[in-house]
Amino acid sequence: MSNGLVFNETLHPGVQVSYTCDEILYQEKTEHQDLVLFSNPVFGKILMLDGVTQVTTRDEFIYHEMMSHVPIIAHGAAKSVLIVGGGDCGLAEEVLKHASVESLVQVEIDKSVVDFSEEHFADFNKGVLENPRFELVIEDGLKFAAETDRRFDVVIVDSTDPHGPGAVLFSEEFYRDIHRILTPGGVLVTQNGVPFLQRDELVTSVERFSRIFSDAAAYIAAIPTYFGGHMTLGWASDNVDLRKQAASILEERFKAAGFDTRYYTPDVHAASFALPKFILDAVEEGRAKA
Ligand code: SAM
Repeated sequence: MSNGLVFNETLHPGVQVSYTCDEILYQEKTEHQDLVLFSNPVFGKILMLDGVTQVTTRDEFIYHEMMSHVPIIAHGAAKSVLIVGGGDCGLAEEVLKHASVESLVQVEIDKSVVDFSEEHFADFNKGVLENPRFELVIEDGLKFAAETDRRFDVVIVDSTDPHGPGAVLFSEEFYRDIHRILTPGGVLVTQNGVPFLQRDELVTSVERFSRIFSDAAAYIAAIPTYFGGHMTLGWASDNVDLRKQAASILEERFKAAGFDTRYYTPDVHAASFALPKFILDAVEEGRAKA
């Protein structure tokens, strides 16, 4: 039963998405951001950082499956994976389903997000922190990417939006460092907003990718709590064929991976790169500006 409280998402000026609150489960002003976790009758537990919805127990599977399985199955031989951000550890749980992944490093700036997620998001991150293949680094992703001498086949930036601590993870400097730490033919995937409301964010990311990588693109997924229609996931690689794998190859690899999903299928993977015209136009504008 609602306690009368309502939380408003304030990401998009002029639009507010309101969630009734049954119970505030955790609230903290961390060193980096305002954090609130509350329960809602429709979406279950909802995490907001600085007033922006990050993840909910009801629809996290869509986002976490599409951010992990698309690049790893497209790559086909990913052994070392890096997650930047991803504090709720739901993405890490999906990556670790791939037995072929020998090591997963997660670089998260805010320890508080990981700490409370272990308790409150066990529905979807169970066992991650104890997994011997998993290594958590509490650091700014920009600093880690600039300084590490480690190399990764897949890098997934599961960041907040380009405000506050997340802003640096949309910079050309950061993307250049990611290019440096990717193995040849590796791939970068980024949380790149809802283009119907955040078009410039996508254009700018693709423009920056295009100056650094041979292939700059995006793919889409529909996440109910990311208000405004399709969400885009940025894609950057020097292997221009990586996002054009035949459905038969994706099918074969997914079958070999041997786990169930609730959103991802090889057909959804292939189709996710077919962009609605207004999103494709934004991607092409970014490529042209490079
Ligand atoms: N699914 C969400 C979305 O699409 O907006 C993102 C989820 S996850 C909670 C975002 C994470 O990025 C947070 O845990 C936040 O602390 C982390 N983060 C923000 N800026 C960061 C930075 N510079 N380095 C590392 N992690 C960062």
